Amino acid sequence: MKKLINDVSAVVDDMIDGLIRSVGGLNRLDGERVIVRSDLDAFRSSGQVALISGGGSGHEPAHAGYVGAGMLTAAVCGDVFTSPSTDAVLAAIRAVGGPSGVLLIVKSYTGDRLNFGLAAEIARAEGIPVEMVVVADDVSLATGSDTAGRRGIAGTVLVHKVAGAAAAAGRSLEEVAAQARRVIDAVGSMGVGLSSCTVPAAGRPSFSLAEHEVEFGLGIHGEPGGRRDRLQPARALVSTVIDRIFDDRGLKAGDKVALLVNNLGATPSMEMAIVAGEAVRAAEARGVDVLRIWTGTFLTALDMAGFSLSALAVDDELLDLLDAPASASAWPSSVAPLAVAMPVVMPAARVESAVRSGEGDGALVAAIEAAARALIADEPRLTALDQAVGDGDLGLNLARGSEAVLTEIDDYRHLERPAALRRLAATVRRSVGGTSGALYAVGLMSAAAVAERWTAGRVVWPEALAAAASAVARLGDARVGDRTMLDALIPAVEALKTAEDDPRQALAAAIRAAASGTAATADTTSRRGRSSYLGDRALGHPDPGAEAVVVWLSAVAETVTARGA
Ligand code: ADP
Ligand code: MG
Repeated sequence: MKKLINDVSAVVDDMIDGLIRSVGGLNRLDGERVIVRSDLDAFRSSGQVALISGGGSGHEPAHAGYVGAGMLTAAVCGDVFTSPSTDAVLAAIRAVGGPSGVLLIVKSYTGDRLNFGLAAEIARAEGIPVEMVVVADDVSLATGSDTAGRRGIAGTVLVHKVAGAAAAAGRSLEEVAAQARRVIDAVGSMGVGLSSCTVPAAGRPSFSLAEHEVEFGLGIHGEPGGRRDRLQPARALVSTVIDRIFDDRGLKAGDKVALLVNNLGATPSMEMAIVAGEAVRAAEARGVDVLRIWTGTFLTALDMAGFSLSALAVDDELLDLLDAPASASAWPSSVAPLAVAMPVVMPAARVESAVRSGEGDGALVAAIEAAARALIADEPRLTALDQAVGDGDLGLNLARGSEAVLTEIDDYRHLERPAALRRLAATVRRSVGGTSGALYAVGLMSAAAVAERWTAGRVVWPEALAAAASAVARLGDARVGDRTMLDALIPAVEALKTAEDDPRQALAAAIRAAASGTAATADTTSRRGRSSYLGDRALGHPDPGAEAVVVWLSAVAETVTARGA
């Protein structure tokens, strides 16, 4: 287990301490794991209904992140995935409850229902008006009475929001509870887990999922879900979830919904954006209008990868409550109303038209094709090398560019050498990316300029490669010994210059020189590129960009040999 904690038994207290120190507007109730609004005195004199939620910890930012004006008044934090005690809830009620009363918003788990329920009873006996609502939005479970029933998951946040806005508007306890129940009746949620989660005190994952498995409908404590399935594209996973929720909630064409797209804890924001886009698409496919959508980390299961979706049918009144301002740290305050999201179309860039001169260079096209195929074949090896000393993208960058080249290879056949090289440079510029994309594009453009000066009968390939290498050195401000592709390119250029008689022998010498230059990079630290950040840690690994030069140069040499050129 690798976690940023001090001590497994102190995680909840340390978290509360961290929140109080780093998030504005929060205070801790002395001696309790209860977080309250820091403007409690002003709040009490406002006469508003107080809202309390809580439950086991490990679902951050729920629920402390929803404490603030327009949402919760207090959050009660249990141990990780464990209901808080009755007394902790009672302490919260006593601290925030006035004559206007308190609404407890509880997720449906036995421990929470019992502890919040008992605290409510005691508080009522003490004269504090208390109402309790229970959220059970997980549609992956049956509603039947032969189980503990549905669990409360991320839809709870929408209950906080709506009830909080109603309370902030000065509505009575009865009215605030009625709004909360409206949301509870309408909202449906479902999660998909890509990984398990690790409870600090347990020290290992709660369950295990195979590399290509996902768990549908799992709970936010790492409880297993309804079923396991193979990992599918985001679009398929999301539409399965949307279908399930919409069917369960009876949402049909023409209905209007708000969607909450929730990160279960460890999903990259990039993937969350993809999931959100697919959720809108899936809803639209069913003719349902998405009027609001919030994407982010709302209610998690520690470090679980995956998402949950919550859908709430809305009318104007609910929209007003959802849109009302809230200062809670975890509620997104700047949300643009969702219009019909159409991508803005940019005018297409002018594509260099393929000049059909008819005088193509078959040997050049064969060499380009062979180089592309070799780079694709060696993608895993180059990736592994760049993972060791760079960011791991070099193999994919070059393979992607090579695929683009292969797609266009037939166009090259009709182009004269300079045009073919310029076309190759354009393809590389468009498709490769990274440092190597820019450097290869520049190198190819310089080679094309040399090719303009080509005269029949005169072999100028060494000159073209030399021009390419100097252009790379200029743009990248690097030289031999800096642990870059130049450590392969420049020795190859030198070898070609000195062995000009037989092209096959010359190329063989160039490859040997490039390979030994590449091998030498394993003994040098870098002054350029990403591996310069590594210093001595790059020692022992050859430079991936130099190795790539050896790969394509060898492939080119093979075609030359094969053609007997
Ligand atoms: P990045 O991920 O840094 O954008 P790539 O993965 O596309 O770069 O390419 C990495 C390779 O680029 C390195 O292995 C090295 O051979 C080459 N490289 C990096 N910096 C330079 C430079 N300044 N000059 C020449 N080649 C360089
Ligand atoms: Mg890289």
